[in-house]
Amino acid sequence: MPELPEVETVRRGLSDSVVGARIESARVRHPRAIRRHELGRRDFVDRVAGYEILAVRRRGKFLWWQLAADDQPQLALIAHLGMSGQFRLTDKQRVVDRHARATFRLADTRTVVFRDQRTFGWLRLDDWDGDGVPEPVRHIGLDPFDPAYDQKQVAIGMARSESGIKRLLLSQNLVSGVGNIYADEALWRAQVHPETSGSSLAEEGCRRVLDQVAAVMTAALDAGGTSFDPLYVSVNGESGWFDRSLDAYGREGLPCRRCGHAILRERFTNRSSHRCPECQPAPFV
Ligand SMILES: [Zn+2]
Repeated sequence: MPELPEVETVRRGLSDSVVGARIESARVRHPRAIRRHELGRRDFVDRVAGYEILAVRRRGKFLWWQLAADDQPQLALIAHLGMSGQFRLTDKQRVVDRHARATFRLADTRTVVFRDQRTFGWLRLDDWDGDGVPEPVRHIGLDPFDPAYDQKQVAIGMARSESGIKRLLLSQNLVSGVGNIYADEALWRAQVHPETSGSSLAEEGCRRVLDQVAAVMTAALDAGGTSFDPLYVSVNGESGWFDRSLDAYGREGLPCRRCGHAILRERFTNRSSHRCPECQPAPFV
């Protein structure tokens, strides 16, 4: 599943390649791709044609294209990548791709392909005047890449809670966009057990964890950005970065890179946590 750094990588890739382009026509190739667009396929296709892409924006794992056209209301084309969504850009006249769910022909003859093997992703159009964020995205909290993100306030909020720090990181209320992989990695780096409560870490300890959240997500973003090909705008949850650079996640039984003890994998709600028993001992209860 694409996590936040992958979605931001997609946003940057799209932003570099399609801003300023005009959408000539669109085609929906699978009804699930626009299941969140309540007015249906015809409305979607008719409405988006002729619009210029002014910007590609993001909050949490939601992306949207800011669209404008003469004498028309401004629009947002909102995308969620779900489990396997990707955007690709092609120069080919015909798109032959059985996972293509929607295509956008640009006036410069390129085509943006929304492909999504597992069809959990979706697209929708909304009126949006360019202020704030579109309505369907308003419930999403700020993430560490957002210019308005205030880490001190997040730490203060976490330190008020008796919940475990990993639960707080994943809750999406105080901070959004932190998934299971990055939570495990940040807690390993900060040497904090995932069940340690926010209140026992206090503001100082929560800030230490949040520093590592930002660091690990930035490292992932930098890695995702280095291999970027403007003609291949994609999300790949199995990028090379995961293989080489993870310290905790997916390393069950392998030696901790800091102390050599075997990394543990433990149940965490319906997922799992990975931690070093030596560097991240269980908190006193
Ligand atoms: Zn260790």
